[in-house]
Amino acid sequence: MLILFKNGQRENDIQSILDILHTSGTEFTLFENQDRLILKIQNSSSLPLTQWQSFPQIDRVIPSDRPYPLVHRDYRPEGTVVKVGDLRIGEGAPLVIAGPCAVENETQLLETARLVHEHGIRLMRGGAFKPRTSPYSFTGLGEKGLKLLHKARQEFGVYIVTEVLDAMDVPLVAEYADVLQIGSRNMQNYKLLKAVGRIHKPVLLKRGMSARLDEFLMSAEYIMSEGNEQIILCERGIRTFVEYSRNTLDLNVVPMVKQLSHLPIIVDPSHGTGRRDLVIPMSLAALAAGANGLMVEVHPHPDQALSDAEQALGPEQFAYLMEQVNSFIRWQYHHEHSAPLY
Ligand code: PEP
Ligand code: MN
Repeated sequence: MLILFKNGQRENDIQSILDILHTSGTEFTLFENQDRLILKIQNSSSLPLTQWQSFPQIDRVIPSDRPYPLVHRDYRPEGTVVKVGDLRIGEGAPLVIAGPCAVENETQLLETARLVHEHGIRLMRGGAFKPRTSPYSFTGLGEKGLKLLHKARQEFGVYIVTEVLDAMDVPLVAEYADVLQIGSRNMQNYKLLKAVGRIHKPVLLKRGMSARLDEFLMSAEYIMSEGNEQIILCERGIRTFVEYSRNTLDLNVVPMVKQLSHLPIIVDPSHGTGRRDLVIPMSLAALAAGANGLMVEVHPHPDQALSDAEQALGPEQFAYLMEQVNSFIRWQYHHEHSAPLY
């Protein structure tokens, strides 16, 4: 059972409650998450639920022992809004994150930044540390890549999302990134999840390529249990038996996450399909499913991309994607007062 105290309550405000637990020999852990004290009661509690709810210090009691109590929808039924500067993810219109798979050099990065910025992109992606299946593939520019991302940020006023591969690199990446990305291959790197749980910047958590939904949400729980509640989930496709695409984009997960969790979820149709001819239709499908945003790979010269060339959108395709996305958003807003269809 999880007892959520009202924001701003300190340990001495809740002493009477701790006394009850001590006297009855109930085992518990008290921890702080952002500005909120949380009490996790290990064994079944001595008091009935209704009695806990009558304490004025207590905001909410989450009954059962769930595997991901903090990430569960009940923790924040109104939904979490992730803030990146003046941007909001999880509220209002869906947000498009765009940029190259990898930061390759200054010309490529700034050319891409100019292109996406021209289409209204405010949050740009680009990997400086690249997790590659083969050690002989391009593994990114490292810190030099972070510096180039910073340059794009300065020149175009775009916020930056970039991947961190190792717990040791979290402070360095956090210096340059507005959002830290945890990639599919690291979804269950618990040391890394805990490290990003202790920083005060949003985290974009990608689903492991073979992860079930409960495993995905428990990974988010690792981050939240360290105090960081600013998490964006990202569906990026899972491994299945199909041979025509790199992955199978599991769009079922979008409405399912909305039932189970308060965290916003975005969709990455680039890795989800691995084919640029499928990226635009699957982007629109993701928006129709209720995604809070998209993350797409764009390259000024896709055929020359050093990584994921086959899935990168070129300038014309990206322009078409944005046209389609914007008309979806206008349509959605036009209908925003009508009752939901599902
Ligand atoms: C990426 O987005 O750069 C990436 C490597 O994707 P994933 O972790 O989903 O494979
Ligand atoms: Mn990629």
